Amino acid sequence: MRVLDLLTKRLMSLFENTLKQINEAAEIMNLDKDIITILSHPKRIMQVSMPVRMDSGEIRVFEGFRVQHNDLAGPFKGGIRYHEQVDMGEVKALAAWMTMKCSVVGIPLGGAKGGIIVDPKTLSKRELEQLTRKYTDRIEPIIGPDKDIPAPDVNTNGQIMAWVVDEYMKLGNTNKKGVVTGKPIECGGSAGRDQATAQGGVYVLDEIVKAKGIKPEETRIIVQGFGNAGGNMAMLLADKGYKICGVSDSKGGLYCADGLDSRKVDVCKEEKGSVTQCQSLGSGYEVCTNEELLEKECDILILAALENQVHEKNADNVKAKMVFELANGPTTPEADKIFAKKGITVVPDILANAGGVTVSYFELVQNEAQYYWTAEEVQEKLKPIMVKAWERIVEIQNKYSCTLRQAAFISAMTRLKAIMEQRGFE
Ligand code: GLU
Repeated sequence: MRVLDLLTKRLMSLFENTLKQINEAAEIMNLDKDIITILSHPKRIMQVSMPVRMDSGEIRVFEGFRVQHNDLAGPFKGGIRYHEQVDMGEVKALAAWMTMKCSVVGIPLGGAKGGIIVDPKTLSKRELEQLTRKYTDRIEPIIGPDKDIPAPDVNTNGQIMAWVVDEYMKLGNTNKKGVVTGKPIECGGSAGRDQATAQGGVYVLDEIVKAKGIKPEETRIIVQGFGNAGGNMAMLLADKGYKICGVSDSKGGLYCADGLDSRKVDVCKEEKGSVTQCQSLGSGYEVCTNEELLEKECDILILAALENQVHEKNADNVKAKMVFELANGPTTPEADKIFAKKGITVVPDILANAGGVTVSYFELVQNEAQYYWTAEEVQEKLKPIMVKAWERIVEIQNKYSCTLRQAAFISAMTRLKAIMEQRGFE
C-alpha cells in the first residue's frame, strides 16, 4: 500500500508542477478560465507496449507513452525519452511544457512528448534498434510531419531518430523525412541541431549578461549534466571566457574552484565513461555527488540533467546568483519561491532550452523544402528568435512585476489565447 501511495504521488507530482505554473501565470494575466481548463488537459494519450526478443532469446515487454498536449499552433512536437523512471505523469508534464516552449519562441508547432521505461545502457545495439522500431510501429498512426513530430530527448540521439524515420518510411511507404527531427545530417538532419539547445541558451545568457553588466571572466559556472545540452553549453561558455568550476553526469560531479578544462573533461568522459573518473586531470579537481555539486560556490548554476533537481529541501543551500534551466523542469515550484525570496534569478526552461526545438523546426522546414542550410545560416536564424523571445519576456516581467517563469508562461499563453479566441475552442 505504501509503495502504491509513493508511486501515485510520483505520477501526480510533475504534472501538478506544470499545472501550478500555468495557474500562477494565468492568475497574473487574468486568463479566461475556459482556456486554463483546456491547457490543463492533454488532447491525446497513447500507451503502448513493445515485446522485444532479447539477445538471450527471451521476450521482454517494454512500456511506453506518447502524450499529445496541444496542437493549436501547429503539429504536436516533442522528444522521446528513454529512462527507467519514465512515467505517464512525467510525460504529460513534458508535453505541456513543449506547448509552452514552442509558443514562447513563436514557432508554428504544438506540444507532445514520448517516453519508454527502459535504461538504454542495459540494452545491446540490436535490442535498442528493435525497441525503437517497435515503438515507432505503435505510434505510427498518430505521428507524421503534419501530425506529430518526435525528436531526441534524455538518452535518445540521432541514431535512434534514424531508426524512427526508416521504420516510419517503410510502414507508410513514404519519403516523409520530416516525421522526426534531430536526425543525423546524412538522413536529412539539420546542420547545428546537435548544438542547438546549448547555442540557444548561450544567446539568451548573452542578453542577460549584457543587461546586468556581468563579466564572463569573473563568472563561475557549474553545469549539472554534462550531456548533449550541458556539455556543449559548458564548452561554448568556456570559449567565451567563463570559468567552468563544476560539471556532473549520472554517476556524480567534478569540481574545481579555480576552474576545470571542460574540453579535456569531455574527452576524458568519452574515454572513461564518467566525469567522476577525471580527477587526475588537474591538481585541485575534486569528485563529489550530484547533490553536493548543486550547493558549491558559483555565480551561475546551469541545470542540464533531469527534473526536480532543486526542491524545497536543497534550494536554500544553492549559492549561485542565477539558475539557468537547460533541462526541462529542474526547479520545483517550492524551490522557485525560495529563489524569488532570495533574489536568485531563474531563467526558465521554456525559454532557456528552446533553441533545440527551434532548430528542430528549421529541420522540418528544410525537409519539406528539400533545401538545406549551412550551420552559419542556422545560427543566423536562431539568434533573433531567441533574443526576441527574451525581450518579450522582459517586457512582460516589467509590466506585471513577476518572475521570469511567470512572464514566460504569460508570453506563451497570450499567443495560445489569441489562436483560441479566433478559431474558437469548443
Ligand atoms: N527534447 C527537446 C526539448 O525538450 C527537443 C524537442 C524537439 O526538438 O522536438 O525541447
